[in-house]
Amino acid sequence: MKIAIDGPAGSGKSTVAKMLAERLGFTYVDTGAMYRAVAWKLKQHDIDPDNTDALRELLENTQFSISDSVLCMDGRKIGDEIRTPEISRLSSDVAKIAEVRHFLTAEQRRIAEKGNVIMEGRDIGTVVIPDADLKFFITASPEERARRRYEQLKRLGIEANYDRILNELIQRDRNDSSREIAPLKPAKDAIIIDTTNMTIDEVLDLLVRKVRD
Ligand code: C5P
Repeated sequence: MKIAIDGPAGSGKSTVAKMLAERLGFTYVDTGAMYRAVAWKLKQHDIDPDNTDALRELLENTQFSISDSVLCMDGRKIGDEIRTPEISRLSSDVAKIAEVRHFLTAEQRRIAEKGNVIMEGRDIGTVVIPDADLKFFITASPEERARRRYEQLKRLGIEANYDRILNELIQRDRNDSSREIAPLKPAKDAIIIDTTNMTIDEVLDLLVRKVRD
């Protein structure tokens, strides 16, 4: 079984996707972490994403693997270093580049083929696995999503400013929804869930019910 969960940043989709995967004993795949990891690696190597040759070479030398829902790049576990505001911005820019999308989409399909997977991102139901058995599109108001991201950063010990987070989130939504390739939007057959006034447990219960239906 393949389940696609898409939605904007801070909608709560990662949290519920992880919990649902645990509940069902499925593999959880955070595709946003893959875009972030590529952005992080570009920065580490001081490569300008507009330098297509260098970008291609970097992608050719990048491998993703997953075991027990732990995502690794080049044999190393991807950690919280990809969660900074700077990498958030960079990942959204990197995600507009066709080479990056083709590479990561192929990696994601390879992982999804193994089955019993919950894959979470922006274009999973529309592009990566349009044949998914179930598709969810999870959203919430920008203010509520900014509040959640603020709390998350604080928990990670990263300094955060609510207004700046809200502005960056709105900017990132615009970036993700307006790009030419694989823009953020619900698949035609997706179940849309607005979590603004829902607790995580309520969202999870709803997803579990839909899976069992
Ligand atoms: O989900 P997360 O916020 O970690 O994703 C980081 C960025 O990666 C997003 O802003 C988006 O631009 C990009 N992304 C994407 N397609 C996906 C997952 C993430 O374009 N399937």
